[in-house]
Amino acid sequence: MEKKYQVSVVRQREMTVQETVRKAVDLIGGLKKFVQPGQRVLLKPNYTGLLVPGSGAVTSLEVQEAVVLLLQEMGVTDITIGDGCGTAHIGTTRIFEETGVKAMADRLNVKTIDLNLDRMVEKSDPRFREIDKVKVAQTMYDVDLVINLPVIKTHAMTNATCASKNLKGAIAPNEKRRFHKILLHQAIADMLCVMPPVLTIVDGLVAQEGLGPAEGTPVPLGIIMAGENTLAVDGVALNIMEMPLEDVKHLCCAVEMGLGSCDLKDIELLGDDIAEIRRPFRPATSDIKEFPGVEIYTENACCGCISTLMIALGRMNAIGDLPKFKDLQVCVGTTLPEDVVFKNMCFIGRCTRTLYNKTSQEADKADKVHLICEGCAPCALEVEEGIRAVYNIDRSDPNFCFASAESIEKP
Ligand code: SF4
Repeated sequence: MEKKYQVSVVRQREMTVQETVRKAVDLIGGLKKFVQPGQRVLLKPNYTGLLVPGSGAVTSLEVQEAVVLLLQEMGVTDITIGDGCGTAHIGTTRIFEETGVKAMADRLNVKTIDLNLDRMVEKSDPRFREIDKVKVAQTMYDVDLVINLPVIKTHAMTNATCASKNLKGAIAPNEKRRFHKILLHQAIADMLCVMPPVLTIVDGLVAQEGLGPAEGTPVPLGIIMAGENTLAVDGVALNIMEMPLEDVKHLCCAVEMGLGSCDLKDIELLGDDIAEIRRPFRPATSDIKEFPGVEIYTENACCGCISTLMIALGRMNAIGDLPKFKDLQVCVGTTLPEDVVFKNMCFIGRCTRTLYNKTSQEADKADKVHLICEGCAPCALEVEEGIRAVYNIDRSDPNFCFASAESIEKP
């Protein structure tokens, strides 16, 4: 290819966050290349849930404020911060209030919006392979510029998430859930076809490894990245995480569809040497645990279902409910040991469909097997709700959520 995608990577070192963000954006042409005074801008941070900035799970307030101040400095005053949080039962409005986003926005005279509650516009594209249409928040198209503000994380269902997947927050809540009932990776790639052009500024001050996108471990990386092509930005993020592209299927699908490149040979890297930043990120699957009283069968399952199951059981355990689920058995993947004694077998994920069909036809097992969900990969909330429905046990604390920021060292 002739023209390379520009991606900047800037280490914070002794600079302020604002200086670091400014330098990263200036290296790819400066904000004036993307927006003019008087135009409207939407900032799209990553708000996975009620998670404390600093956990590496959500975009920091400092980076959002730095971008707002840089925009205001050049005469852009119509600024909105918006996300459509995947934990819709908590709600983006409450998340913005409890994590400090709303207070910061008020102080800076900036609007906020819950994209889940926005008017939705239906989009389709002839390049779609898994979906035929998708509903996206209207505000994404009403503004003159969307600034995508993701973080760098390992992810239970997609192995890694950064620029491209963060845009999934802009689709309708029922679409977010639908994507987990079909081929998630291709659906995300399809969705990217109809997203407006975005400027991505990655908050890599604190990243996250392990059981992301919410319950992982903070990684103080101390960088800001910027770029126009989301796949190129993701390609550099993967390189920093030492994660091969083939492990991140939604990016493979998007590259195959011609939406950009994750290959460093197609990318003009600007700023600091990423060799000094690169370090292996511990994958989500490394956090597989055992839960007393629960039989877990994972043969031939991939990280999507295994990690999702870990998150779901982890939440049920943390809330104190798991011991109530007597004789709970869960199966992800394609096989079960021949000598397994069926008690209350919950099948999770598309791969278990054949096993469920077979066992549900057998008289001695029919009332002991349950097909919880068939997503590939399903979402953790759906898995938890499905298991709870089998036992008819509600959450003992309906407001329970993770807010597990650990104290971290400054890079
Ligand atoms: S359904 Fe199968 S392929 Fe899909 S995430 Fe689960 S184990 Fe992996």
